[in-house]
Parts: sequence; structure tokens; C-alpha cells
Amino acid sequence: MSHSDRSIKTQLIKNQDSQSLQSENIQLKAQFNRLLNNAHENQHKLKRFEEIEFKLMAAESIEQLLRIIRDEYTTLFKLDDCTLLLEDEDLSLRRLIPKSLQHTDDGRFLTLLNFPVELEKLKYLPSQISTGAYQIAKHQWLMANSRIESIAVMPLIRRGKTIGVFCCGSYDRERFQSHAACDFLQRLSFIMAVCIENALNLERLKLSTMTDALTQVHNRRFFDQRLPEELARSERSLNAVSCLFLDIDHFKSVNDTYGHGVGDDVLCQVAQRIQTVLRTHDVLARYGGEEFAVLLPDTDNDEAMMVAQRIIFGVNKNRIVIDKNVILTITISAGVSTLMTEDSVDDSFRDVEELGMKLISTADQALYDAKKQGRNRAINAGLLALIETDGNSQKAQC
Ligand code: GH3
Ligand code: MG
Ligand code: MG
Repeated sequence: MSHSDRSIKTQLIKNQDSQSLQSENIQLKAQFNRLLNNAHENQHKLKRFEEIEFKLMAAESIEQLLRIIRDEYTTLFKLDDCTLLLEDEDLSLRRLIPKSLQHTDDGRFLTLLNFPVELEKLKYLPSQISTGAYQIAKHQWLMANSRIESIAVMPLIRRGKTIGVFCCGSYDRERFQSHAACDFLQRLSFIMAVCIENALNLERLKLSTMTDALTQVHNRRFFDQRLPEELARSERSLNAVSCLFLDIDHFKSVNDTYGHGVGDDVLCQVAQRIQTVLRTHDVLARYGGEEFAVLLPDTDNDEAMMVAQRIIFGVNKNRIVIDKNVILTITISAGVSTLMTEDSVDDSFRDVEELGMKLISTADQALYDAKKQGRNRAINAGLLALIETDGNSQKAQC
């Protein structure tokens, strides 16, 4: 080979090397850009996750927390559906979570699991997050939405126990792919579980300070707190609100004859019998010893009298069985009062605290009359109305 041939060949090799270096360079650049994009995307994702996590941690009540999960999480992550199922074997969550979240129009977001078959399914749910195509047989109990194409199932675990499961659904088949990385979701589900548990414990604590330890109905503190709230609400809605005062008849003789233990059992059973007559938004409280107070929102005087009669019948209808030797017939007396609000009254005169006291003392007076007239009956104090006299508003009992 001549010298010039050799130099041409060397030049060709050099050119080839530089071309392959160039294409390698382009590939590396593309790879670098992909990694950079991924990093940016992840950073953006992390920010959104952090945003929702801070909100969850800052929630001040279970209501606020569940609304954040349901509304803000769905919007922030552009989900087409999300559901939360919580274990409620002892039915306690039904008392802790506001009814407005338990009974929504579509009823899809929150499910409190109580049936053995549901609890069993929850118990055997894999503890790892799973993502992938929506399968009716596998996922319908978690999310009953036929339009969902892909789903992320996130078990909520505390101290080794599955307390619930949060599911995210999308109409897009590619959204939750089975091989997708779940690090962010894993962290979110952990934080969600901690926040839900904390919020429920806080509600339990709040409720325990408002519950009568013996009968498990509300205590007087709760009643006194709810009374002005209900009166203010009735003022706004112009609906009547009624109050019942109830007192077990000759209860002292139960204690004297059978002892305080039996007396306590009777109190509990009477409280249950009263509760079964009431609607979920009525307020029953043990007001003192063997006295109960009931607040009946949106209830006029005739309806309140009917409720009182139903309670009296319910307490007396069947004998109270303590054991095979102690079977008692118990009666109860009631006083009824009702507040009608009228929109023509000067607002400055409306002191809900004072009105509440008047409503209670009027029912209490009627209860006293029921005792005087022979017990086992309801006496109606009628309407406590707001009237106007000489241009000045006054409260008066009609
Ligand atoms: P009346 O028909 O006039 O209401 O008669 P009464 O015997 O029911 O009323 P009284 O006020 O004379 O007695 C109420 C009794 O209720 C006295 C008190 O010892 C009893 N009592 C109050 N709280 C409790 C409790 O928590 N457990 C028990 N076992 N008894 C209680
Ligand atoms: Mg009594
Ligand atoms: Mg009494």
C-alpha cells in the first residue's frame, strides 16, 4: 500500500470514529434529557404529594380530613373516582364520622365495613399497594364504577392491622399500570393511615367527654352545647324545635328494693328504649340521675307530643328483664315544650341561651305536672312563642 493510500485509510477510520462518537453523543444527550425530564416530573409529583400530605396532617377533624381526601386529592391528581373503605366492626365509626359524609347522594366515597364477609376481604387484602387494570370480580367491592379502566388499591395499615383501604380509579387504562413504581403512593398511604387513626382517636376523645359513662347516651354537657346551636338553626329555618323532659317513675323504690346495680341496669335499658323511638338527628341526653332530656329539631308541638307518647309506651310496653328473678314493669313521665320562631321579632331580643333555658324549664314544669297528675303520662306545656307587644319583642308562653 502506498503512503497516500495509507493516509486515506487512516482518514476514513478517523471519520468513522468521529461519526460513531457523534451518534453516541446524540444518544447520550437524549438519554440525559429523558432522565432530566423524569427528574422534573418526579420533582413535580413529589411537590403535589407533599402538598396533599401537609394538608392531611393539618386537618383538625375527621370531617375535614375525609373531605380533603375526597375532594382535594381527587382534583389535585385528576382522578376520575376515589373510594375509602374503613373497618367498623364494632360500629363505632358510625358515631364518630358525620352523617353528611356517610350518606352522600352517590354514596360512593365512604364505606364503613361491618359485615363479616367484608371484614374478611379486608383482612386478606395484600398489604402491598397494587396497581393495574380494573377487574370487576376483583375490584367491584372496592370501587363500584363500571367506567373505571385502571385502579390503584392502597391498603391502610396501622400496627400490622389493615384499618381500611383507599382506592384511586381512572377512566384511562394507562393511568395505573401494573408495573408502575409505587413509592409515592406507599408513602401517601402510610401518612393517610396515621392521619385517619389520629383523627378518629381525637373524635373518640371528644365524644367520651360528651357521653354518659353508664347509659352511653349523651351527657348534659353535650345537651347544653347542642341546645343553643339547634335554637339558632331553628331561628334561621323558622322551623319549630321541641324539648322533652323525662323522669323514671318511682325509681328510688327500684334501688331500695333491688339495689343500685339493678337500678343501673334499668337506667341503661330505659335509655335504649328511648333511643329506639328517636330519629338520628334528635338529641337524647341523660340530664341527671334518672332524668333524660330530648331535643327534637324541626318538630312541632303535636309531633313532639306523639314522640313523648311513643316513649312512654316503649318504656312500659315490655317488662324489663334483669335476670330470671328480677323482672320489672317501669313507667316514665314526660313534659313537652315547643319553640316556634317568628321572623317578625326584633333580632336583638333573641338570646338563644336564655331561650334554651326557658324551653327546658317549661318542659320541666310540665314534667312536674305529669308527676302530680299520676305519672306514666305526658303533659304538654304547649308553645313557647316569641310575640311582639307595643312594638317591643317579648318572650311569652302561650
Ligand atoms: P318520681 O316518680 O317522683 O320521679 O320518684 P323517684 O323515686 O323516681 O324520684 P326520686 O327523686 O325520689 O329518686 C330518684 C332516685 O334515682 C334517687 C337516686 O338514688 C337514684 N339515682 C340517681 N342516679 C342514679 C344512678 O346513676 N344509678 C342508680 N341506680 N340510681 C340513681
Ligand atoms: Mg323519678
Ligand atoms: Mg328525678
